[in-house]
Amino acid sequence: MPELPEVETVVRILDEQITHHRLIDSSVYWDKTIVNRDELIALNGQQVQKVSRRGKYILWQMETATILIHLRMEGKFYKLAKNEARNKHSHVIFHFDDFDLAFNDTRKFGRIEVSQDLEHFFNHKLGLEPWDELLTKEYLRNKARSRKVHLKTFLLDQSVIAGIGNIYADEICFKLKLSPFTRVHRIPLYKWEECVDVTRQVLQEAIDSGGSTIRSYTASLGITGRFQLRIHVYGRANQPCHDCHTHLIRSVVGQRSTVYCPQCQKRL
Ligand SMILES: [Zn+2]
Repeated sequence: MPELPEVETVVRILDEQITHHRLIDSSVYWDKTIVNRDELIALNGQQVQKVSRRGKYILWQMETATILIHLRMEGKFYKLAKNEARNKHSHVIFHFDDFDLAFNDTRKFGRIEVSQDLEHFFNHKLGLEPWDELLTKEYLRNKARSRKVHLKTFLLDQSVIAGIGNIYADEICFKLKLSPFTRVHRIPLYKWEECVDVTRQVLQEAIDSGGSTIRSYTASLGITGRFQLRIHVYGRANQPCHDCHTHLIRSVVGQRSTVYCPQCQKRL
């Protein structure tokens, strides 16, 4: 599943490719991918004003509405020459003025939806962006104070901070030296300050390494935004901790696979 840094990479590539281009029409080969087809058709002939991101949503700002894309598990974009044959996993083809853009999705979980009112669409669903200046230690402490959920679950809650997924939640817990099982109401204020810094640092590092993907990107590979990450814990169960060499443990928190160092990461 693409996480915020991968989505950000896709957004930057798409912004270069489709901004100021006119969407002529779209062909849909798997109906469920498009939530509201009529509203998408109504945007035919409009120019893309900007491509941006909110949480893990990709936003194409059109002239009268916004197209929102959630890649979910496997969604990715391919740029095609005009009328180039589509792949069997291309469920939607966006026809632009002088090229086509395919939305490929082997698992068919990706969703594309048109919204006239983003405020309403995101209402209460998404919390602060990681770089929002309102994201402070006090904000996190207030959100955590009355809740007894595990830290890992709290970090994955999109209504607190938007965009953190499984990989980065594990990495953030590692850098905080806190067990993913720590109950958030026990975490002191100074640790929340660290949490703000570490979250930004981990995501920024991933976005920066995605920059190399942008440079080496070729259309034939598709835009997945995936790249080699410097990972400390995620996917490294039974391997030695980078800091203390203790073997990392795999466990499950809130039904999500979780890896942590039993030595470095304390449970408060
Ligand atoms: Zn360790």
